[in-house]
Amino acid sequence: RLYNEVIELKGNIRVFCRCRPLNQAEIANGCASVAEFDPTQENELQILSSDSSKKHFKFDHVFKPEDGQEAVFAQTKPIVTSVLDGYNVCIFAYGQTGTGKTFTMEGTPENRGVNYRTLEELFRCSESRSHLTKFELSVSMLEVYNEKIRDLLVDNSNQPPKKLEVKQSAEGTQEVPGLVEAQVYNTDGVWDLLKKGYCVRSVGSTAANEQSSRSHCLLRVTVKGENLINGQRTRSHLWLVDLAGSERVGKVEVEGERLKESQFINKSLSALGDVISALASKTSHIPYRNSKLTHMLQNSLGILFSSQWCVYFIVTYTGGDCKTLMFVQISPSSADQGETLCSLNFASRVR
Ligand code: ADP
Ligand code: MG
Repeated sequence: RLYNEVIELKGNIRVFCRCRPLNQAEIANGCASVAEFDPTQENELQILSSDSSKKHFKFDHVFKPEDGQEAVFAQTKPIVTSVLDGYNVCIFAYGQTGTGKTFTMEGTPENRGVNYRTLEELFRCSESRSHLTKFELSVSMLEVYNEKIRDLLVDNSNQPPKKLEVKQSAEGTQEVPGLVEAQVYNTDGVWDLLKKGYCVRSVGSTAANEQSSRSHCLLRVTVKGENLINGQRTRSHLWLVDLAGSERVGKVEVEGERLKESQFINKSLSALGDVISALASKTSHIPYRNSKLTHMLQNSLGILFSSQWCVYFIVTYTGGDCKTLMFVQISPSSADQGETLCSLNFASRVR
């Protein structure tokens, strides 16, 4: 029975779909919305096809174009705070470029996204538990571009970037030696720190947003806990990942650098899909090592508890919070209907 509980948890992957509003240009060009939502269902949507048939999709939650950042975070909050209970958590934003991956994760100064709200919430929760556990939070930011890892908390503009690799530690966890880990004490410094990282990310690309849509951006929050009663220490990671655009590159562009980029993107996104669906289908072989992205996230995509009793305890007493959450971001526009169906099918596969 205990074994079943452990396996059950592995399959506990949640998928949220978020549809952005039609933008000014789409409205001006006469694009219609092909996404339909049932006002009484919070987890379903339909996509109208060109032959006027409808494709139906069901997820753990569906955010409509009018749903704001608060509504999104309200559903995400229980998942991110489970990192304080010792879980490794991973949240991804997946989808075509321009569908709101960065808006969901990073947000804007007026409309902050999951990343900032998560840290704010972690500070709030760790404060309220400070009589039981002493928590220490630190933040790292990195980018994976063409299977190369770049530290976003180091300003590399004057020197060649440090080469970073994923290494396995003596304890069997995956680490990135040399990656900057900035300790954070309260929300005050956090937004500036995140901004610095976002800024380093966009420098080095010729056209704004070009390279950023072709790289994965990862924010890693490390939580160290020390139980004040029994002295037990824990260390867990929360990964917040803004993935590269999932769109298929048009034939005209497929040559040189662009071809290399899109091959790397395809490779890592399909490796991610393979890992998540292997976890969901409860197979014993999980192909983590097929890309830098999945290799680095290895400990956070599966189960990391050394003791099954610990898993049993958490499953029984907290209802088994999930570890992996994927936002599948979509555009409502008729012009993007093909890519939208691809993204929704991909997301349905991992669930
Ligand atoms: P991506 O990172 O997937 O390429 P962005 O996050 O850059 O997409 O979003 C593209 C544009 O759409 C941005 O100007 C962003 O502010 C806007 N946008 C995306 N999602 C929403 C939303 N839910 N509500 C309002 N504006 C949005
Ligand atoms: Mg983006």
